[in-house]
Amino acid sequence: QCPWGAPNTTSISCSLADVMSEQLAKELQLEEENAAFPEVVAVAEGPFITGENVDTSSDLMLAQMLQMEFDREYDAQLRREEKKINGDSKVSISFENYRKVHPYDSDSSEDEVDWQDTRHDPYRADKPTTTPRRGFIGKGKDITTKHDEVVCGRKNTARMENFAPEFQVGDGIGMDLKLSNQVFNALKQHAYSEERRSARLHEKKEHSTAEKAVDPKTRLLMYKMVNGGMLETITGCISTGKESVVFHAYGGSVTEGKVVPSECAIKVFKTTLNEFKNRDKYIKDDYRFKDRFSKLNPRKIIRMWAEKEMHNLTRMQNAGIPCPQVVILKKHVLVMSFIGQDRVPAPKLKDVTLSSEDMKKAYCQTLDMMQQLYKECNLVHADLSEYNMLWHDGKVWFIDVSQSVEPTHPHGLQFLFRDCKNVSQFFQKGGVAEALNERELFNAVSGLNITADNEVDFQAEIEALEKMNEDHVQNHGKKLPMFSSDGDPPIYDE
Ligand code: ADP
Ligand code: MN
Repeated sequence: QCPWGAPNTTSISCSLADVMSEQLAKELQLEEENAAFPEVVAVAEGPFITGENVDTSSDLMLAQMLQMEFDREYDAQLRREEKKINGDSKVSISFENYRKVHPYDSDSSEDEVDWQDTRHDPYRADKPTTTPRRGFIGKGKDITTKHDEVVCGRKNTARMENFAPEFQVGDGIGMDLKLSNQVFNALKQHAYSEERRSARLHEKKEHSTAEKAVDPKTRLLMYKMVNGGMLETITGCISTGKESVVFHAYGGSVTEGKVVPSECAIKVFKTTLNEFKNRDKYIKDDYRFKDRFSKLNPRKIIRMWAEKEMHNLTRMQNAGIPCPQVVILKKHVLVMSFIGQDRVPAPKLKDVTLSSEDMKKAYCQTLDMMQQLYKECNLVHADLSEYNMLWHDGKVWFIDVSQSVEPTHPHGLQFLFRDCKNVSQFFQKGGVAEALNERELFNAVSGLNITADNEVDFQAEIEALEKMNEDHVQNHGKKLPMFSSDGDPPIYDE
């Protein structure tokens, strides 16, 4: 066949049956729509709009009504299932928590807007971050800007699949739905707050299973770290405490320009709120968090603990104190370098038997580190003891600093004194002749010169100092110079 020949004039044939069926389809469609629409109007007489003045021009209103209808149908189905399962049984199961429509559920998600993963120190004033208006991906002629509506719309529809599994998004891909960014973001926000609401409802159940160390959402968060390549594998749990669970993990490659250590510890702050209640005093009076505390719900306060540990570890790292290095903080999950080797965590000072030489070395180092912590990091550990000091690589490492406070904290000096008591007792019992007693240690660390020679008087003087400082803060809006060199804590770059 000659390629330049005239094309065959094959008329596009279309059978009568095809035309007919298309017409038939249209007719059926119309019929269906006619049948469906009156119902929508009927719903309009429901809880949303009363009276004759039904406005059907608002897409939002219609969508909300349909959603309501869907929710109610869903609940009705749930009730049927509930009935079927329970039958005449005397003991019945309630599906109450799974219902979509809740009697007192006018719940605004306002205070639930997700806590930002604040990676900046709270001292620094918040600078509004400006997102570049012209986001684009791709290279050269394949460039796709966010303004390419069709591509972007399809992408958004596909991304909707990433919402929580139980969040029903419908078959948007099948019908080639194109979601604008605005709509997508609104839906995403809704999916999240819905997820949180549902999590809140089911929380009690999740946490009642004691052997599960973390709740499903946290597991997902950790899974994402593996999936994203930051971690290679999470091998298992190192410690289950009252307030946290710690896991061991092998690090992945480079993430976000950061080298992830070959072995990591993942500290998950428990989202069960009970244990944290008695820790209020640490954070409530910490001026760094003062203006935030009052506005926060307990869930956010737990994230604040994680955040606090991160900032404190960073300060210590910058001062050269041996401690875990922060890798990343995601919500209430803090990833840091692992102190130990080949999955074996370094022993706590209380569990290790040291030669008297090493014991002395450990003491001298601890004294140094406490001074550094106070003077260079402007921090008091506030839970320092042989339980939170690890022995690794021939030296002492400080861990567990989420509760650490600045010396000017209203109880900062009392916390320091308690730390000194623990440390002093441990090393004195351990046979270190050079070990200072708690009062000497306190003065050595703080640079203060409290002369009382018994504990009661000593503590009274500490309290008097704290009170003096508080009054000074009240009257002059700033701390006394004896507490820190320049009044303001140092700011470190992360
Ligand atoms: P908790 O508040 O539960 O005491 P910790 O931070 O003290 O939390 O961690 C609990 C235990 O987990 C520690 O005693 C230690 O054995 C282990 N651990 C915590 N962080 C690390 C780390 N970075 N490397 C190795 N082990 C760690
Ligand atoms: Mn601890």
